Amino acid sequence: MTKMSSDARVRIGLEIHCQLTALRSKLFCRCSADYRGKEPNTNVCPVCLGMPGTLPLLNRRAVEYAIMLALALNCKISKRITFYRKNYFYPDLPKNFQITQYNAYEHASVGVDGSLVLDDLNGSSKTIRIRRLQLEEDPGRLAYEGSIDTANYALVDYNRAGVALVEIVTEPDFDEPSEVRLFLNRLASILEHLGICNPALEGAVRCDANISIGEHARVEVKNINSFKDVERAVAFEITRQRSLASRGIEIRGETRHWDDARRITVQARMKEEEEDYRYFPEPDIPSIVVKEEDVEALRARMPELPYARVERFVKVYSLSSDTARILVNEKHLADLFEASTKYYDNARSIANWIVTDLKGYLERYASYDRNSKGDDGSSNSIFAKVTPRHIAELAMLVDSGKINRVTARQILQNVVASGMLPSAIVQGMDADMLSKKDELESIVNRVIEEERKAFMDALSNEKALNYLLGKVMRYSNGRADPKLALSMLKEKVADKSKGGK
Ligand code: ZN
Ligand code: MN
Repeated sequence: MTKMSSDARVRIGLEIHCQLTALRSKLFCRCSADYRGKEPNTNVCPVCLGMPGTLPLLNRRAVEYAIMLALALNCKISKRITFYRKNYFYPDLPKNFQITQYNAYEHASVGVDGSLVLDDLNGSSKTIRIRRLQLEEDPGRLAYEGSIDTANYALVDYNRAGVALVEIVTEPDFDEPSEVRLFLNRLASILEHLGICNPALEGAVRCDANISIGEHARVEVKNINSFKDVERAVAFEITRQRSLASRGIEIRGETRHWDDARRITVQARMKEEEEDYRYFPEPDIPSIVVKEEDVEALRARMPELPYARVERFVKVYSLSSDTARILVNEKHLADLFEASTKYYDNARSIANWIVTDLKGYLERYASYDRNSKGDDGSSNSIFAKVTPRHIAELAMLVDSGKINRVTARQILQNVVASGMLPSAIVQGMDADMLSKKDELESIVNRVIEEERKAFMDALSNEKALNYLLGKVMRYSNGRADPKLALSMLKEKVADKSKGGK
């Protein structure tokens, strides 16, 4: 083994599994595709349990969705789509083989030779090549009592077995962990726009990464649960492998698991060779001959894709391409934007609101991360309250000078809590400020009583006055008119210094 310099070229490739969550049934039977939250082993039938004598029946829509995704990723569509058996023994696989696709003898998978362009890498762009895109069935799931290390036995749940997956394999074209994250976000946006997969659902998009440096062996990292963790796992592997290489230690070609608690990769098993799987054509599913006109008909049915949508946002709404990309990267934000412009025609102002204030709010208060663990409840519940009309009104109120941005952000919190329209909230605030003059008196007195020292300081120190004002604002839940409150405080201070009590 030659000693590599630690700055040898890094190559990263991805293998991504996307569940076609928009399907109603599994890939080869009529069981529900929605297995989440069900009692173990209740969403099963003889076909997906692999009982002898049963026959798989291919879900036509699954093939259509896979072709659409392949088209969106600029793949060539195979003229004959064929299924293969990938044989291996593992308890989550009831048939002891997985029905998948295999390209060794012919182009049998749905698509090959595609690409996805990363067009906002700090001004430059880069094309990631897609080696293949195939359709296959999801295995079941193992569950452990306690943790995988300490459990005495494993339990198997076949509810997920047979759910339709699209597997996407890229060429090792990534150089940086950040490119990987960008790619996954782009892919998620494409899936959302096609409406074939909801990436926010737990386990709907799963990503393995392979990493190698220089001429060293390739290491595969599995078990990565979120897009953020893919970036972390890849960064960890690069550091680990560079460190080994710089010390002249051989890097073994192996499979490693991402341990998201410790944020490290740990060795799993030595890599199986391809031929171990004894691929052979699935005799129970005839090949599908794909005609050119069928592909074109599907292409015509495809909704607008993210790249076209960004372009349109720039052209039609005069947004900067950066702003347009941030919106389109999360389809629900782009949809919210377009719907809001129907209520208020200052598109740039609305876009600005969503991209800076709303997104910032979501990230801070809802610990919002697409494809993070758990469900997407937090952001969904916010979007149930924050409608296009709410966004339009907030932007309008700020633009007209009626409220400032800080107030607008407070109103946003109120909207999330109450679902009230911003204009109604502002009206309430106005009314409160005018009619609560008497109430303000009692709040000011309370503050002066409780903050005796600050009040005495205020006789000679302006800053103490601001401190007292802050207290008044807090006790009034922000409803006090700050100007009025300040003048009242000043009056009290003046009275005091004149020798009043
Ligand atoms: Zn079934
Ligand atoms: Mn696979």
